[in-house]
Amino acid sequence: MDPSTKTLRDAGLRATAGRRTVLTTIASRGAPLTHAEIASELTGLDPVTLYRILDSLERAGLVHRVHGLDGVWRYCPQPERRGCPGNHVHFLCTTCGAMSCLVDQPLPRVTPPPGGRIDARQFVVGGTCARCSGAGVGDAG
Ligand SMILES: [Zn+2]
Ligand SMILES: [Zn+2]
Repeated sequence: MDPSTKTLRDAGLRATAGRRTVLTTIASRGAPLTHAEIASELTGLDPVTLYRILDSLERAGLVHRVHGLDGVWRYCPQPERRGCPGNHVHFLCTTCGAMSCLVDQPLPRVTPPPGGRIDARQFVVGGTCARCSGAGVGDAG
């Protein structure tokens, strides 16, 4: 069984061809992608179907949605489904639009107002990525 089929079934979803392709595409990039970026890699899948697939993956907790400072939603892989989906800081390069997950930096603990409940949270920082700042992505040290 291919890994995406198992992931989908474990999450209680039917492993349709579309869901498997979309999940594999997001997971293989390991970084949040916009709807347009996913669509450009998956020719033959119409935009509405892609939205439906992303929605079902999000509700099953397999991806989480991050709203960029540029107003564009991105879908982030959540292969391990540990803790709260999206419980890490995201970095958005405001030059090229690339977003990355800072998975080793969990979000601060937030207490809702009395009687309230937190259903969604995100923390996006903006800046310039190594490629755009010309620093390169060499080995540390
Ligand atoms: Zn950049
Ligand atoms: Zn993420």
